[in-house]
Amino acid sequence: MKKQIRKVLVINSGSSSLKYQLFDMVKGERIAKGLVERIGCGGPKDHTEALANVVAELGNPKDIDAIGHRVLHGGEIFKESVKVTAAAMKKMKSLVKFGPLHMPANLGGIEACERIFKGVPNVAVFDTAFHQTMPDCAAQYAIDPKYYKKMGIRKYGFHGTSHKFIVQEAARLLKKPVSKVNLVTCHMGNGSSLAAVKNGECVDTSMGLTPLAGMVMGTRCGDIDAAAVLAIMAAEKLTPAEADTLLNKKSGLLALTGSSDCRDICTAAEKGDKMAELALEMLAYRTAFYIGGYNTVVGGADAIVMTGGIGENSKEVRERIVGRLGALGIKLDKKANAKARGVVATISAKGSKIPVVIIPTNEELAIAQDTVRILKG
Ligand code: AMP
Repeated sequence: MKKQIRKVLVINSGSSSLKYQLFDMVKGERIAKGLVERIGCGGPKDHTEALANVVAELGNPKDIDAIGHRVLHGGEIFKESVKVTAAAMKKMKSLVKFGPLHMPANLGGIEACERIFKGVPNVAVFDTAFHQTMPDCAAQYAIDPKYYKKMGIRKYGFHGTSHKFIVQEAARLLKKPVSKVNLVTCHMGNGSSLAAVKNGECVDTSMGLTPLAGMVMGTRCGDIDAAAVLAIMAAEKLTPAEADTLLNKKSGLLALTGSSDCRDICTAAEKGDKMAELALEMLAYRTAFYIGGYNTVVGGADAIVMTGGIGENSKEVRERIVGRLGALGIKLDKKANAKARGVVATISAKGSKIPVVIIPTNEELAIAQDTVRILKG
């Protein structure tokens, strides 16, 4: 008989930080969570030392049954989470080119766990995996196919763990099997992406080869004419790395308003700040634009689902988005919207043609659940 998997450690290992959560999967409870920062820049020397700190913080546990890891990119190799073996590790290493900053840190976290928790199984859960069901017409770019063949340049999509989690929760809420549910899922946080979900599977998503595409985000520009980037690079004599920083770290809401935090921007807009007002309208416009498109893509959604820091908490942004969805027969229940904060709630009015629901995401729990599922086989 297989051993019961009770305690699952979830590791989200970034380039200079390591976040962890420990779950009791039998009770369905989180036991501990924490963060180690400044890895390699003043704090622990590497991920192994950071993990040793975590082990000490947890009181040297001897009863961890499995470890789930958030891994940025699974390319086209990983359509599913995977138990870490030498062969899987080799394949993951071949994908470092898709995430030169994140992937070495993700894989460093796995290797540190293999050293410290000897014999405990590790499972890699990929941000891209849920989106691997996209058809070519959504995933391919209209450029010379040699770039896809040689370099794997195509749309992959991210936040997959969150989108998959809220699809499952939404199906339960709608009392439909996952395989029959059509949704537009909106993960709106500091990074944001939408997914078109038909019969429980992703058929399109707004992020692309990297998380830069799609929505207006905290510090990322989202969709932009590639020629605009080339023009700025030429005028400012930017290297590709400098352009990458400009578009990923110095654009979006931050560039428009001076803050990447939606709360600051809502407060400023309320006080009449014109750029804050414009930024919120751009955010709402682009979200509504994608919702309209994805509603068509899925052949009519059973619900629009919102999640993430903004989706779960910002009544102002939600009101602006839903206000633009009248053509879909969607109406906001203003009172319900004002009340909904960090909980499951329906914010559309009774007569709304498509319900709009808030479902808080929990990526760490989703990783822990997937870890158990993969190991149980
Ligand atoms: P996340 O990346 O999911 O943690 O989301 C971060 C974003 O959620 C930031 O832009 C925050 O300003 C936003 N956020 C969190 N709480 C609220 C709130 N109460 N009202 C508006 N925005 C919020």
